[in-house]
Amino acid sequence: MRIGVDIDGVVADSYPAWLQELNRHYGKQITVLEDYEMHLVFDVPFDDMNNFFVENVEYLLSMPKPIQGAKESIEKLIQEGHDIVYITARRPEEEEITRDWLKKHGIPHETVLFSGFNSKVELVRQWQMQAFVEDHSVNARGIAQIGVPVFLLTTSYNKGEVLPENVARCADWPCILKGLLQLAKLGPM
Ligand SMILES: [Mg+2]
Repeated sequence: MRIGVDIDGVVADSYPAWLQELNRHYGKQITVLEDYEMHLVFDVPFDDMNNFFVENVEYLLSMPKPIQGAKESIEKLIQEGHDIVYITARRPEEEEITRDWLKKHGIPHETVLFSGFNSKVELVRQWQMQAFVEDHSVNARGIAQIGVPVFLLTTSYNKGEVLPENVARCADWPCILKGLLQLAKLGPM
């Protein structure tokens, strides 16, 4: 089975780390990200926050820790013969730093696709993915809509979202791994 895997919020524990840096930068003390769109949480223009990310990209993309269980689960899936393809909304310019981070943390990776500000849905279709792991409810919905089952890691910014039936919520990677292995057993969808 070819499994698509997002990076930020799924493999890299980026948001808590970024929240801390954004609090420092904007002089705020926000403790919980209740919206995926961080500029809304901080009440600043999108471009302003985007500039902060562009100017500090090396630091911000290299500092997050991996999400617990991601590495082991991905290793297990590869062992079981599955093909892991990462799709991130990071920009293509950030490929080297992203690969360096995966390498530094020993997370197996070959194909990493960079959608930037474009939708991930087209890449999921082109690469004929059979399942996807995501944390952003908008992406999860879009991918589910083309008939690809999605495992959504529950976070502070997606916990209130109502989801279609082929999006399964998981609190952690052991749950995602179990769901993916079960799905693989059912055969081609
Ligand atoms: Mg993400």
